[in-house]
Amino acid sequence: MNSKTRVLLLGGLLSILVILCNFLGVFEFPKSKIDLPELIVDTVLSTSTNDSILSKKPKFIIDSNDEKIIFGDRQVPDSIKDLMVLVNVEYWGYDSIMHKGQIVVNKSIEKEVSSIFRELFDIQFPIEKVIPVSHFNWDDDSSMFYNNSSSFNYRKIKNSNKLSEHSLGLAIDINPKENPHIDRFGKVSPSNAVYNTSDMGTIYDGSECYNVFNKYGWKWGGHWRYSKDYQHFSKSGR
Ligand SMILES: [Zn+2]
Repeated sequence: MNSKTRVLLLGGLLSILVILCNFLGVFEFPKSKIDLPELIVDTVLSTSTNDSILSKKPKFIIDSNDEKIIFGDRQVPDSIKDLMVLVNVEYWGYDSIMHKGQIVVNKSIEKEVSSIFRELFDIQFPIEKVIPVSHFNWDDDSSMFYNNSSSFNYRKIKNSNKLSEHSLGLAIDINPKENPHIDRFGKVSPSNAVYNTSDMGTIYDGSECYNVFNKYGWKWGGHWRYSKDYQHFSKSGR
């Protein structure tokens, strides 16, 4: 075999490998462009014993800092827009640093949501990020893929024509990458998720996060009969 044939053969093999990987979804990434807020870090000045220079340590990382709810060009009835409120929340990130984020919920549960996040903060339950879904172009798959915890999104239930409880800001999803939605056929969303209850930020029956929501009378999607939605909590159980 001469060198030209060898190069051609290698090229052919590589092409087959790339096609196969695409087919198997090895390189699967969400298609939609996201517009994440720029990372802002609240810093606290602290003196290091070995170093006379003041060193900066992050106190809070700000994941979201909107002034008001962004609806953009999303078609949402005014009657529903009027029911929503932007809530500031604090949580411990996967980096063991305190974070500040924001969640859009129904005004009727504003106080309760603040209390729930306060309790999750106090027990240091890790949450990766809490950013309004508008920053993911309202694309639930993209928001889940980036492990974003959220509530309001004017959308239908997966595989259905009915509006989801998220449309009314009455359901909250926590750490979707660790707590995926698994439909009745076994399809896992987001595509990069694995449900392993020993992972950081996981929710399971009797876990810390589950107990906090349960204390306020919220029901968990992990108890659904046909599909499982381990990230999902709502008052109604839907
Ligand atoms: Zn949900």
